[in-house]
Amino acid sequence: MKVQKHLLTTSFEELESFVAATGQHGFRTRQIYEWIFRKYTVDPDQMLNIPKALRKSLTAGFIFSSSIISAKTEAPDGTVKLLLSLADNEAVEMVLIPSGSRMTFCLSTQVGCPVQCCFCASGEQGLTRNLKDYEIIEQVYHGIAQIGRLPDNIVFMGIGEGLLNFENLVSALKVLTDPARLAMSPRRITVSTSGYVPGIKKFAALEKPFVLAVSLHAADDATRARIIPDKLRFPVTDILKACDYYHTKTGRMVTFEYTLLKGINDRVKDAVKLADMARRHHAKINLIPYNQTRPEYQRPVESVIFRFRDILDENGIAVTLRLEKGTGAAAACGQLRARKLKKTAEKPGS
Ligand code: SF4
Repeated sequence: MKVQKHLLTTSFEELESFVAATGQHGFRTRQIYEWIFRKYTVDPDQMLNIPKALRKSLTAGFIFSSSIISAKTEAPDGTVKLLLSLADNEAVEMVLIPSGSRMTFCLSTQVGCPVQCCFCASGEQGLTRNLKDYEIIEQVYHGIAQIGRLPDNIVFMGIGEGLLNFENLVSALKVLTDPARLAMSPRRITVSTSGYVPGIKKFAALEKPFVLAVSLHAADDATRARIIPDKLRFPVTDILKACDYYHTKTGRMVTFEYTLLKGINDRVKDAVKLADMARRHHAKINLIPYNQTRPEYQRPVESVIFRFRDILDENGIAVTLRLEKGTGAAAACGQLRARKLKKTAEKPGS
């Protein structure tokens, strides 16, 4: 009997039925779940207290591994980036970001990205496909294999617009937060969006206290149009309305992500407008000075970055300045994958 499910996304009840069908005792289900979600071991062959016959049935009946690490880079600050090869030879990235004793995993949700923000390496080639729920969760397991434990935080800020892969994202969030599975608090999980309004509304309707980060990047439509192409760009007023809805449904403040680009969105009037917007819509601001991947966009000089931060601060807005981590690990979104794509394109005959 071939069950085309992944062990990571198989519910306890489904696994229980499978175990019963093999004629094994019911308590084996709990043991298997313990291996997967407490010992982070998904390969049935390594589940040593499970009878060999059942291990064989699990191996034959389920997918348990669909990606491998094909490259790893580490920056001097400890940031580690993993390039993962998927079963169809596509690639995504995940990043492990240390901060003191805490660890954050940054995960991808799609192969490529349809939004194609002007400064982002992930969007360059557009969307190839959505990640499956288990491909999202496997990223967590690759990270766990690096550090030996669950991360303190997870951010969906890698490759892709997660809210355009809603079903798989929500299924993965379920595994991450289910008390019987990875049991993480939703408050430690951030879902980032480029401002995809229908997705924000659906996400709000879940009424779960996940953190929502909206990549605003500009306080008005004209400036935003210089950063995000038309096809998936929503008007700022619609995004703000959706953020208000999220706040009403979850009681949580939204975070506005704001990539500072020299001469585009780093003016004093941008900061003043953004501060006003954040105040009226219960938002915190995360400022990210551009980590240069394209010659046509530049990072503002430090004095401009700090002036922008200070204006927000003086207006009473909670603001964090994310001076990028992992420069030596090619940590900006999509850089490793972009390098891989470039190499493949350069191979004669490929
Ligand atoms: S910044 Fe995010 S939403 Fe924009 S193209 Fe890159 S991955 Fe997609």
